[in-house]
Amino acid sequence: MGKQMPKFFINPPTNGEGKNKTPIIIEGEDAYHLARVLRAKPGAQITASDGQGRCYEVILTEVTPESVRGEVLKVLPDQAEPALKITLCQSILKGEKMDWVLQKGTELGITAFIPFLSTRTIARPAPPQFAKKRERWAKIVTAAAKQSGRGVIPVVHPITSWGGLAGVLTAGYTLVAWEGEENHSLRQVLTTRFPTAPAEIRLVIGPEGGFAPEEITMLTAWGAAPVSLGPRILRAETAGPLTAALILYHYGGFEP
Ligand code: SAH
Repeated sequence: MGKQMPKFFINPPTNGEGKNKTPIIIEGEDAYHLARVLRAKPGAQITASDGQGRCYEVILTEVTPESVRGEVLKVLPDQAEPALKITLCQSILKGEKMDWVLQKGTELGITAFIPFLSTRTIARPAPPQFAKKRERWAKIVTAAAKQSGRGVIPVVHPITSWGGLAGVLTAGYTLVAWEGEENHSLRQVLTTRFPTAPAEIRLVIGPEGGFAPEEITMLTAWGAAPVSLGPRILRAETAGPLTAALILYHYGGFEP
């Protein structure tokens, strides 16, 4: 079983390594997967993550399809998490496109997602559906984090609107990918504003129909920098994951 790849998420052990440690308990699908699919036996070692950036080398002590127990051998530094935290503010997209953005965005290293409704958003879930949508998105992100060996499960924030984004965006550094930007490329903005990697970047991506001009005016007033992604118009679901990947690449986030 791969030691470098945390595929199992556990609650943070209360008393870490050493004697008198609390047992690790894995239940549900993960227990079934370990027992039946991977045929793990007591004595096998796995890497588990607490979803908060810490990994553990765990030795299994009991394995059944319902419940797996183990002990922490070692606390490991996280290796899969990018130093630069990207929050993707994505105007909600239709159907599977939103799922795709969450899945690919997680694989590529996005730290948090803020789904929001903008003027031209086509997919407008009614408020009573918000919680259910968010739950579904959280599941997609969790599965993608496991699959890709992330140490942190990205946060999916509640669905919001410009009003809700105002507080978030005025506080930090924000880029908005705008199809109408004619002068500033992503590379230019990153190079001039951040010669070295910042700790955090927020990225705003529009819906299928793009941004209304007054939305760009408002974002700019909040301090966001509009960037062009070049001469081709990308589909809304391509823009977020691509831009996140380009930003991480720019600062060395894709080195082995
Ligand atoms: N329907 C619009 C395009 C919307 S693309 C039009 O035809 O003009 C959806 C979103 O992806 C945009 O709001 C923007 O955030 C991003 N995007 C796509 N292509 C882009 C580009 N070349 N430069 C900057 N942003 C882009």
